[in-house]
Amino acid sequence: MSDAYAVIGNPIGHTKSPLIHGLFAEATGQDMVYTAIEGRIGQFAADMDKFRAAGGRGMNVTAPFKLDAFACATEHSQRAQMAGAVNALRFDGERVIAENFDGVGLARDVVHNLGHPLKGKRVLVLGAGGAARGALLPFLAEGPAGLVIANRTVSTAEALAEAASAHGRVVACGYSDLEGLEFDLVFNATSASLRGELPPVPATVFAPGALAYDLAYGKGLTPFLRLAQQAGTKQLADGVGMLVEQAAEAFAWWRGVRPDTRAVIDLLTVPLV
Ligand code: NDP
Repeated sequence: MSDAYAVIGNPIGHTKSPLIHGLFAEATGQDMVYTAIEGRIGQFAADMDKFRAAGGRGMNVTAPFKLDAFACATEHSQRAQMAGAVNALRFDGERVIAENFDGVGLARDVVHNLGHPLKGKRVLVLGAGGAARGALLPFLAEGPAGLVIANRTVSTAEALAEAASAHGRVVACGYSDLEGLEFDLVFNATSASLRGELPPVPATVFAPGALAYDLAYGKGLTPFLRLAQQAGTKQLADGVGMLVEQAAEAFAWWRGVRPDTRAVIDLLTVPLV
């Protein structure tokens, strides 16, 4: 019987994960099946246990279950600890091992696919939710000249900077504090784009030659990317590369072989218009 994996979320109809993992399995010759499960709100543990009992080997976890998965795991990687959230699980007997590959996937997309090293650069992250939390350690590991995290609720950004302080310096602030500052890489890790909204970021944050990256994907030119474009920024990206790279990290963790991502990213890329 093929090894079974799944993504669990609610809603889950929009998920690209079965397609991505199916393509990875085909390209690497892995004997596995990967399905999508619509988890029941408040019943994550029961749904996870049902899948495990049926022989499931691992799961990707998406909204709104990333915190439930954290609570259900018996072991957490440092990245999952830092993020306080989980996007991949591996089942090994009684062990439920938790990981969070969102941040490494993002860093890999930016550095390897888009050719923007973070080393020595001024980096700004907008938002302090799960995706921003996951990005901090992988970003600090790249050695930026400065890492600033701005959030509407400043106390959340401050708590995040404090949590990351053992790994490097992160400056927390509100949006109005960004007036007069410029950055080489600007990441929109807020969920504003999902509702067609714009975080209140000044258009002056984009340095000449900056990269503007919206973690949301499949939305075309979001209000954030449009702001960056109007400010003269030519390098624009959405989160499709991050999505595929985090999937590749999970696949490698489960199967011991890292798939090539280029063709899958190209297949899923939607023009930014
Ligand atoms: P969370 O709900 O955990 O965090 C939301 C964040 O957005 C908070 O910091 C919140 O601020 C802020 N926010 C929401 N609306 C606004 C607004 N109108 N103006 C300013 N700030 C706002 O979301 P996630 O971290 O899970 O997701 C964030 C984004 O990352 C989403 O677009 C999601 O699709 C994307 N993502 C992409 C992935 C990929 O693979 N490409 C993977 C995971 C996420 P406050 O604290 O003040 O409420």
